Amino acid sequence: MPDAPIPVRALILFGPPGSGKGTQARLIQQRLEIPHISTGDMLRERMLADDALGLSIKRLVDAGALVSDELANQMVEERIQRPDCAAGFILDGYPRTLGQAGAICRKLTLRGIGWVVVHLKVDYNEIISRLAGRRHCTQCGAVYNLTSSPPKTPDRCDVCGFRLAVRDDDAEMVVRKRLEAYDEQTRPLVEFFSAGGCRLLEMNGAGDSPAVIARRICEIVA
Ligand code: ADP
Repeated sequence: MPDAPIPVRALILFGPPGSGKGTQARLIQQRLEIPHISTGDMLRERMLADDALGLSIKRLVDAGALVSDELANQMVEERIQRPDCAAGFILDGYPRTLGQAGAICRKLTLRGIGWVVVHLKVDYNEIISRLAGRRHCTQCGAVYNLTSSPPKTPDRCDVCGFRLAVRDDDAEMVVRKRLEAYDEQTRPLVEFFSAGGCRLLEMNGAGDSPAVIARRICEIVA
């Protein structure tokens, strides 16, 4: 008798900075009711602690560089073991290196968790302009874009009224560094995923509204 197909429980959102992984993850989280795990959010939270690890994370993130595989792997390993991930989860911004990809694929395989990788493709000029207009609420985490999804009141969060801020690593020089890090360390994962026989779906991350793209991804995952 053929083996039963492994159910897909992990959705890996993959793509360059500013390709919309976070926006998509939030929309898909609402539709599928599974947690959104963003290593970027976890690192930003961790760097608020004014200790040696927090400061070393901040230095790397503010320079547009990646933190160590060891730290990223450990954070995700701990997070996906929590009970709320039992029915599935969305990985946003992880894996980002070949070392991370090997580690997570091994773990998921060992635990019998199927996964699908969605690659959001967006032109780098569009990314630079998107990130220049990105604002976020430091209180509730809502994200806006001055061109495509501006807040109703300038500089104020629609949800909680708190003042909006620019992420330090969205400064243009840092964005260029992040794109370089993506090209060197993350883009090779496309080949890794294709060669490993994973389900890798290429998707245009621009052109349609975020809601339309999210619906498409949910249909594929379902
Ligand atoms: P983006 O995808 O737009 O670059 P994120 O919020 O995912 O934004 O990540 C912000 C920063 O956090 C990255 O530039 C990097 O410094 C760090 N980071 C996030 N995820 C990882 C990861 N998996 N491995 C190493 N560093 C990471």
